[in-house]
Amino acid sequence: MKQSQVRTRFAPSPTGFLHVGGLRTALYNYLFAKQNGGLFILRIEDTDRARLVEGAEQNILETLRIFGLDFDEGPIRQSDNLERYRQCAKELVAEGAAYGDNGAIRFRIIEDGATKFTDIIHGEIEIKNKTQEDFIILKSDGFPTYNLAHLVDDHDMAITHVIRGDEFISSMPKYIALHKAFGWELPQYAHLPLLLNKNRAKLSKREGDTAVKDFLDDGYLKEAILNFVALLGWHPSKSDREIFSLEDLIKAFKLEDVQKAGAIFDMTKLDWMNGEYIRRKSPRELLELAKPYSPTWVSDTQVGVGHHLDLEKIIALEQPRLKKLSELPGRTDYFFKEPEYDAVLLKWKQISDAEIKKSLETSKQILKSISDKNFGKENLEKIFLEKAGNLPAGKAGDRGELLWPLRVALTGKKASPGPFEIMEILGQKKAISRVESAISMLK
Ligand code: GLU
Repeated sequence: MKQSQVRTRFAPSPTGFLHVGGLRTALYNYLFAKQNGGLFILRIEDTDRARLVEGAEQNILETLRIFGLDFDEGPIRQSDNLERYRQCAKELVAEGAAYGDNGAIRFRIIEDGATKFTDIIHGEIEIKNKTQEDFIILKSDGFPTYNLAHLVDDHDMAITHVIRGDEFISSMPKYIALHKAFGWELPQYAHLPLLLNKNRAKLSKREGDTAVKDFLDDGYLKEAILNFVALLGWHPSKSDREIFSLEDLIKAFKLEDVQKAGAIFDMTKLDWMNGEYIRRKSPRELLELAKPYSPTWVSDTQVGVGHHLDLEKIIALEQPRLKKLSELPGRTDYFFKEPEYDAVLLKWKQISDAEIKKSLETSKQILKSISDKNFGKENLEKIFLEKAGNLPAGKAGDRGELLWPLRVALTGKKASPGPFEIMEILGQKKAISRVESAISMLK
């Protein structure tokens, strides 16, 4: 028998923005089609008129575009195909497999025996037919239900592999009975594991049951989201590799290696992965990507500090620790405006206010003694560390005594990059004036 070309479909209902689970379904369908030289088709299942959400279809299309999951056919809308479903329902009535029920049409289930089928992921499955009931295929409003419409389309569109969520497994006896009634061949099925939270319960909004757009808006890179989503229920069988581009995935992905058990959605892992991708970008690329998070970002450099700041340097400073792009403005705000903080933050270990003040005075003297052109971080570090080594031991007796109050004076933050890199960017004038402000906060 001639092997037919692989044809997969992603068939979202436009009842909301595309969620992570939907993106995974789309991705797996795309990967399977592409690695088999097949076609990936987009079908919009819009027959449940009451649940349509405005903007949902557009969001689905836009999200697929962002992630590069380009479809070869579609979008095909079920609402354009109503006549065909009505015709099919009528056929079933004519042959006695379905019957009218208050304006709707129901398909008749034969409750004897069991339905057996093979799922690519789950293997052999057997479900007792008495778990099923006669079900509506055409509603009284003339619109088909999902149960009829998806199946007619999968047949008409010559879909070879139906890859979708687990929640449809329990209805497989219905679909197989319908295929029989039509005299159609079954496609192959692969049912994907549910997404669960760490406690193995259904995802809540806070735990990631969120539109993909929200993740993008929150500062996750598309490469990281895609990679993370690919690993929700799949990983390569013979390696620990975790970082994959879309191209890599086309080569490495195997539908048979998708796990049966629910896939845990681990936000910590997403953060880690995002950090990995952030580190792979150049500061210039990150600067572009981070712009939407701070509309005033670029103009701030002119106003706040009085001279032009090197944004790429600022970004490079944060790059090693950054988890999300959206953190960038908050982490770097002290470059653009005077820091605001409580004077207690200047305190290092148990040293007294007088000692803090002395420490800051020392920093001020050092800063004044360095010429502006020697304000590079290496030079600053050398001079400060020498000085710190020569200081008469205070209560803390370590270099934190000099460097902590200085760093806080510069940033107003508990945590930040080290003072030398920061001062190199801020420049001498600004560094001195911030140390002076800190001194004036201490009695
Ligand atoms: N419209 C269905 C959904 O969004 C599609 C399920 C399927 O792929 O068959 O859940």
